[in-house]
Formats: sequence, C-alpha cells, structure tokens
Amino acid sequence: MILPGNTLGMLGGGQLGRMFTVAARTLGYRVLVLDPDTGSPAGRMADEHLHAAYGDAWALEQMATRCAVVTTEFENIPADTLRTLAGFIPVRPGAEALERTQDRAREKAMIQSCGLDTAPFRVVTALDEVESAFAAVGGPAILKRAALGYDGKGQIGVDSAQAARDAFDQLGQVPCVLERRLDLEREISVVLARSAEGETLCYPVAENIHRHGILHMSIVPARIPGEMAEAARRAATHLADALDYCGVMAVEFFITTAGELRVNEIAPRPHNSGHYTLDACVTSQFEQQVRAVCGLPFGDTRLLSPVVMVNLLGDLWAGGEPRWAELLDHPGAKLHLYGKSEARPGRKMGHFCVLDDDPEKAIADAETLFAALE
Ligand code: ADP
Ligand code: MG
Repeated sequence: MILPGNTLGMLGGGQLGRMFTVAARTLGYRVLVLDPDTGSPAGRMADEHLHAAYGDAWALEQMATRCAVVTTEFENIPADTLRTLAGFIPVRPGAEALERTQDRAREKAMIQSCGLDTAPFRVVTALDEVESAFAAVGGPAILKRAALGYDGKGQIGVDSAQAARDAFDQLGQVPCVLERRLDLEREISVVLARSAEGETLCYPVAENIHRHGILHMSIVPARIPGEMAEAARRAATHLADALDYCGVMAVEFFITTAGELRVNEIAPRPHNSGHYTLDACVTSQFEQQVRAVCGLPFGDTRLLSPVVMVNLLGDLWAGGEPRWAELLDHPGAKLHLYGKSEARPGRKMGHFCVLDDDPEKAIADAETLFAALE
C-alpha cells in the first residue's frame, strides 16, 4: 500500500489531472504533474509541475526517483514514456492497456475479441479501400481517425462512398475506421475502478446527451431498465479484466433503437460522464483513482442523490464571463471551473451538477440554469 505522505506522479495536466490532484492532496499525498503546458489546470494545483515533453529524459528521471507510483489522465501519453517509468516504479494503468485504447481499430478488435458488439466498422488506411469499406458497413457512416481524436474531433459523417473518399482526403489520409451510424435510443457509460489484484467496482450507470459530438449532459441514474444497466456494468468489467487494467477507466455504450447494447469506446482514465461522482457519490472517481493506484481499499460508489451534470464549454464565454448569479444561488447546484485562462469554442472550461431527490426536477433545473448562463 502506498500511504498518504508519498508523492504520486500524474502524466497530463488537464482537468482530469486537476481533480485527481485535489483528491490526492485531500488524502495527504503530494502530487508531481508532468505536462508541457505551463498553464496546465493540474499543474496549478500540484505540489510541483514539471513543464517538459512527455519523453523528456530529465523529467522522467525526476518522476522515477521521486514518485511512489505514476498514473495518467490522458490516453495519448506515449507508451514509451510509460514503459521507461515502469522500469523504476509502478505505472498504473500500464503501457499496454493505454496502447490498446490509443487506436480505435485496435480497440474495437479488442472489444470484439471479448465477445462484445460494436457498430459495424472497417479499418481504412488507403484511398482505394474506402469504397469497399463503405459498402461493407452498409448505410450512412462516420469516418473517424484511428488515433488522436477526442470530443468529436477528427470525425466526419458520410452518406455515400464518394463522401467517404472526400472525408478520408480531408482527414489527411491517416489511418481511420469507418463505422455505421447507428440509430441511437440513448448513450450511457460506466466508470469503474480495478485494483492491481484484479478487484473491480463499478459506479452507477450515467446516461449521456451529446451535442455536436461533445458531451453536454449526464443524467444519473440513467433512465434505462435495471437489466440493461447490469449488462453494461458486466461488459465494462469484462473489458477492464481483458486489459488487465489498474486504475479508473470508463466504457461508453450506445443503446440502439432496436434495444441493443453496443460498446462505443474505452477511456483509460476517469471520464467526463463520471464528474457527477464528485458531488453525488460517497467516493469520487478521482479519489477512487488515487485509491486504486495506491492499493488502498476502494471507497463506496453509492449514489447519494439523483444528479445531472452539465458541461461548460468555451463558447459560453464568447460574450464575456457567463452570468453565474442564478447557478450560484441554486441550493442544489455545484459549480466546478478548471482554471483555464483561454476560453476557446468547444473547450471544456468547467461543469456544474444539480442534485435533487426528484430526478425530473434535477433535469429541468439543470436546463434552466444552463440557459440562464448565456
Ligand atoms: P470521441 O472520442 O470524440 O468521444 P466518439 O466515437 O465517442 O468520439 O463519438 C462522439 C459522439 O458521436 C458519440 O458519443 C455519439 O454521440 C456520436 N457517434 C459516434 N459514433 C457514432 C455511431 N457509430 N453512430 C451514432 N452516433 C455516433
Ligand atoms: Mg466518446
């Protein structure tokens, strides 16, 4: 067990690293953040922030000698960075788990090898493969770059083989997956923790509403039958076991209009749809990450109240600072801002949660409070 007082290393300095840092320091750990960005949200909260590239030899030596364990908040940390560190200290999750989720093609193959369904897809690596791929997936599709996409970036919807070829060109002919656009009833996600010994614990299932490919709102509990929630938790646990994962991860699912559960993607880190745990669960997903990577017993994942989380994107700042008055005055609302200095459109600047015993009122109030910000 790595006990409070030790130093934890965090690779990545975004908001997920920031909320991990707060949770770790609350428990009495020290936190060392590595992120090349001098103004990183996590760096500002950490005991120390190393501004260096993820492959920087000096920075990695600092982490290896000073930290008791290293974890990450960003799936695109180079696997070699994790391998180098793993020669000296525990790295949780490990390089292989991260590597298998960094590429959509590899990730989907892994999901299917677990006997779980994805959207029908084909891997596309050259222009002359696009047409047959489009025919194979059948119907309207989405072309997604295999690596480095997030928040709907690097994705183009296509309705014909010609449109798919144009989209492949537009994405620079990098390796992609072309997947069928499913008719969705809902989207849900499961956040879970897995220990180094293989013990897993899931959080309640979140229902997720996206706008323009970016998460807008999470509603917990998800408005789905109990058996569907149970199936999603089982599938997520199966994937965590298959990855031999250690830490906190999330699995995003589609529920189609035909009522099928299909895995969308895996996030090897805490997840935006798990931010509700900060305000509505006994143990937040970030405290759970601390506990999982340090080998402490898991904290209780019990939901204390129905909750709705709403993301605050940079667009809200277009006309100056959003109008916070109503949100701050609401007895069930909790505001979280990530300390980012520049508010670009689509950039995640913060979120808020609304708690209410009545789930319908929580949704209605969240919508009203969001509208009042503009
Ligand atoms: P990201 O890595 O950017 O989160 P996703 O693959 O999760 O990328 O896609 C973002 C969102 O776009 C999804 O949450 C969903 O709303 C929509 N989407 C993606 N793929 C499909 C699909 N095959 N069918 C229908 N909607 C999709
Ligand atoms: Mg996604």
